[in-house]
Amino acid sequence: MVPEGLLNIAALDPGSMAMAPGGLWAGCWLQGCRLHCEGCANPGFQSTRRIGMLARPESLARWVRGLRGIAGVCFSGGEPMLQARLVRSVARMVKEAGLYVAAYSGYTVEEIRSDVVPGAAGLLAELDLLIDGPFVQGLALPPGHYRGSSNQRLLFFNPALEARAGNSPAKVSCHVRVTPDGLVLTGSGALQVEGVLRRRLLQQAEPKPDDSVAVARSLRSPGHDQEETGKGNDERRRTT
Ligand code: SF4
Repeated sequence: MVPEGLLNIAALDPGSMAMAPGGLWAGCWLQGCRLHCEGCANPGFQSTRRIGMLARPESLARWVRGLRGIAGVCFSGGEPMLQARLVRSVARMVKEAGLYVAAYSGYTVEEIRSDVVPGAAGLLAELDLLIDGPFVQGLALPPGHYRGSSNQRLLFFNPALEARAGNSPAKVSCHVRVTPDGLVLTGSGALQVEGVLRRRLLQQAEPKPDDSVAVARSLRSPGHDQEETGKGNDERRRTT
């Protein structure tokens, strides 16, 4: 049970070019989703139990506002709409700092407008960009489209962000960040890059014990292509 007023967060990333078009985005993956799409990129983020971290909206907004060089924050998951009221608070505080707010949702924009979950329409009103709809495995797209399947739509509600995205047409499918714990991969192509890196490590004549942390984590947005091999990362393997 998550205490009232706290966001249930699966993961954070301080900057990824692969979250959404238009530059570098702070990534916030919310914990919990009820849609259970076949081929979900992040099944470990479906449980509504606390698995990652809890945070007050002000704390999350302060973290985002303290980052440098980002276009804004992009919420993913899990399902951001399940925590719409708290996420909306964060969105408002982030926008006060002149930053954009984007979100992925497994619900369609029509469902969100009709408040499919309490507070969804309110959160929608704060978004500059929504990537909507469930992941449909039969309509899966290759990495690099900022969406997992062709039924999903990039819906811009802010012309300035749309122009910015249009001015940087390069589609980034994987962003690799080096951390003290290893590499953090984000984006729809993260799984493929992780697979290549792991195969390279396994090909080494004498793998070192700490090779297991060379790829610390892969984070992808909802509804991207399914697991490539049995060599997944801990996040996707976590049971719900
Ligand atoms: S793909 Fe997205 S909407 Fe579908 S089950 Fe996974 S987290 Fe939920």
